[in-house]
Amino acid sequence: MKRGLYVGRFQPFHNGHKAVIDGLAEEVDELIIGIGSADISHDIRHPFTAGERVLMITRALNGLKIPFYVIPLEDVKRNALWVAHVKSMVPPFDTVYTSNPLVIQLFKEAGIPVLSPPMYLRESLSGTAVRKKMYHGEEWEEYVPKEVVSVVEEIHGIERMQQIAKSD
Ligand code: NAD
Repeated sequence: MKRGLYVGRFQPFHNGHKAVIDGLAEEVDELIIGIGSADISHDIRHPFTAGERVLMITRALNGLKIPFYVIPLEDVKRNALWVAHVKSMVPPFDTVYTSNPLVIQLFKEAGIPVLSPPMYLRESLSGTAVRKKMYHGEEWEEYVPKEVVSVVEEIHGIERMQQIAKSD
């Protein structure tokens, strides 16, 4: 039994994340998806709450051929303690999948194997690029799974982002 951990902020969950997870479903028997910065929402880089991201990911992965667990992970002030914090919150895992340099470094220092899945269309498929399109009222729907579009609509996410981006 091989259980993998995939960590991200998923602000929002996009087609690049989905493509990585579809690939991981061929490699591991079970997957843990850790939602980082679970305590942060309603700001420009982190518009969505942990619960909203749980909804996006769970719905978008409906039909994934392996069992998966979606677990919010609050940030901690000390990077040196973060891996222990993550391990205390999620089921046991064998390998971490990430391309985030800090996340790679922290898990490697803890002696946990780390693999970096390939990037998919990184120019257009990044949280920053998708959020930018959302704020500017451009087409963003094609870059995320359709289930994410319906969650964003349900929570009036675009209106929230445009409101919090204003100055007083
Ligand atoms: P992210 O949502 O930007 O990305 C998640 C993963 O998807 C990353 O591995 C990224 O490389 C990958 N990805 C992004 N676009 C892709 C594409 N087009 N194709 C394929 N893969 C793609 O999230 P992130 O910034 O990596 O999240 C790390 C989380 O860990 C953050 O929430 C951070 O706060 C948390 N963290 C916390 C601490 C602490 O609390 N001290 C320390 C380290 C990390």
